[in-house]
Amino acid sequence: MQVYLDNAATTKMSKTAINAMLPYMDRIYGNPSSLHSAGQKANEALVNARERVAKLLGCEAREITFTSGGSEADNQAILSAARLGEQKGKKHIISTAFEHHAVLHTLDKLKKDGFEITLLDVHENGLVIPEQMADAIRDDTCLVTIMYANNEIGTVQPIKEIGAVCKEKGVLFHTDAVQAAGHLHIDVKEQNIDMLSLSAHKFHGPKGIGALYARKGIRLTNLIEGGAQERGKRAGTENIPAIMGMTAAFEEACAKIDENTAKLTVLRDKLITGLSEIPHSVLNGDEKKRLPGNVNFCFEGIEGESLLLLLDDKGVYASSGSACTSGSLDPSHVLLAIGRVHDIAHGSLRLTLSDENTEEEIDYTIKAVKEVVEYLRSISPIWRDLVSGKKEFVIK
Ligand SMILES: *Cc1c(COP(=O)(O)O)cnc(C)c1O
Repeated sequence: MQVYLDNAATTKMSKTAINAMLPYMDRIYGNPSSLHSAGQKANEALVNARERVAKLLGCEAREITFTSGGSEADNQAILSAARLGEQKGKKHIISTAFEHHAVLHTLDKLKKDGFEITLLDVHENGLVIPEQMADAIRDDTCLVTIMYANNEIGTVQPIKEIGAVCKEKGVLFHTDAVQAAGHLHIDVKEQNIDMLSLSAHKFHGPKGIGALYARKGIRLTNLIEGGAQERGKRAGTENIPAIMGMTAAFEEACAKIDENTAKLTVLRDKLITGLSEIPHSVLNGDEKKRLPGNVNFCFEGIEGESLLLLLDDKGVYASSGSACTSGSLDPSHVLLAIGRVHDIAHGSLRLTLSDENTEEEIDYTIKAVKEVVEYLRSISPIWRDLVSGKKEFVIK
């Protein structure tokens, strides 16, 4: 059996998305900036896609900029807010320690430019407390950037409340909604969001395409100079096939949010219940305020990489955390941010579901993880020390 449980890393493209792209690869291949009819046909598609994406977010078409994905949208949102803040002498930004690296590394860059960054505590449950965020806002705060849903532990922040505080205090609010878009209902106006990033390949669309919503009046800074595409804010010939694929995938995903949430929550909770039976294991992130398809555990006395390789042998495709940090030996910054110690953070397993997963696959996965954990512990000297009482268990 092959079970793909790494949907937070990327998803399979839907048939709808693929079919929406095909005409723009052979028949309607003009450059939307060309004045002839072939170009204008492509431009009509672009205009149409922008309106449809805007409608799904509850904003206006001109508030949408197409980007190469979530990372670019995060970079552009944060750098734009920073430039606007700098012009008014405001060089303080609030975020959290468990953001995606597209956010954290952009903030690191700003720190070198003299910005001060406050990283809020996300506590053991992986949630920001809006009152603590409000207290952290200063006269020189120019931006609050907090992710909608965490890509490793799936916790979903009180976005509307955070946005309301920012609105009241006159501070820009950006949210990296890459894990939320197409999975949770979003309405940028109702939720007081000034800027939002999304990426198509996390909701069954193509890779290399995303969007940045920026409320009108917020002047974006260009990351790429060149032609006047995207209202002069993002140069380069628009990737029309990908934009059409993203738009179709986003519509399909949004239409299925309630149905998928109901289905995935059942599978997720079954997986959580099954894996909780493993002794000395702990679920990472709040049990309820998490994405319907996210499961993340730490197992004591286990090395995450070995766990993944042995699960791969059994056909279960999982992750130890973010795809971006795999390959490095550092434990997940997300797990450290929720207070897991190094040794425990190393023994993590992330399983992220899609609506294609079945109950049979979940049963198979529970059995596979139990077997692999048991085997790895049986050959681990650390586990021997724990069992003999030489070392003390961290996870009771
Ligand atoms: C995947 C992801 C990104 C990066 O998106 P890309 O389109 O791959 O650049 C950013 N933030 C979060 C939370 C993600 O999960």
